[in-house]
Amino acid sequence: MTGQSSRSVGHVPPGQVTLVGGGPGAAELLTAAATEALRHADIVLFDRLAPNDELATLAPNATLIDVGKRAGSHPVSQTGIEQLMVDHALSGKRVVRLKGGDPYVFGRGSEEVLACHRNGIAVTVISGVTSAIAVPAAAGIPLTHRGMSHAFTVISGHAPLTENELEGLKLLGSTVVVLMGVGTLPTLSQGLLRHGMSPDLPVAIIERGFSATQRTTVSTLSAVLADAATAGVRSPAVLVIGEVVRLAFRGDDAAEDLVARAAAFAVSD
Ligand code: SAH
Repeated sequence: MTGQSSRSVGHVPPGQVTLVGGGPGAAELLTAAATEALRHADIVLFDRLAPNDELATLAPNATLIDVGKRAGSHPVSQTGIEQLMVDHALSGKRVVRLKGGDPYVFGRGSEEVLACHRNGIAVTVISGVTSAIAVPAAAGIPLTHRGMSHAFTVISGHAPLTENELEGLKLLGSTVVVLMGVGTLPTLSQGLLRHGMSPDLPVAIIERGFSATQRTTVSTLSAVLADAATAGVRSPAVLVIGEVVRLAFRGDDAAEDLVARAAAFAVSD
């Protein structure tokens, strides 16, 4: 199938749904298309991790509906979110479903797109800056570096990995990025060690990226459980497992140290 649309991606016609990736939390990391979609929205359904602070300004004409999960309040179920989205679109509203990061990275965005299709509602998706890449970057960690890592694998820590998946990560030897990984850190770190990953492999845990309380804990695969417990690491956090963590600029290290750490992995062009 081929097709071409002349209208801009941020344009939201009445009775339609736009899934918008809101980026990792900083309003500056919203795309121009996301900003445009919000500006025209009648209804915005937003999450805990979507950039919420400036929503009233970004979506001045919209009714803002919090469907996120917060301690102490009852979250709206996934089916409930999809129903709200569909009902508002059927009543002729311009609906924006604002999600944290990118809608198609572990955000259940594809389920929401399918819900629209099932109900005959036109839906478009605006990609967002994913926390998988941006949160490590905010801690000074590149996911790839020539000579160190030429691939990265983004995994969900929502459920423990299978033995085959653990073995696959060991064989690939790439940078491993874990979202929703705080709860399953014990099974992941022990599983990777059991499959032969080096106990000295660096691990970084970056909590609350782009917030005033962003914090990075740097450890190794064998020590990360104890270090995470000591630091009291909590969700939301992005974990990075791999040599690239050595390139993290932690604020107080001299530039020469950083360059020396990178030089250890240098390759000729
Ligand atoms: N679609 C989102 C990810 C949804 S899963 C994206 O592309 O970013 C939710 C997980 O994302 C959290 O548990 C956490 O691991 C990660 N996350 C999202 N925003 C974050 C932030 N600002 N700081 C740290 N982790 C974040």
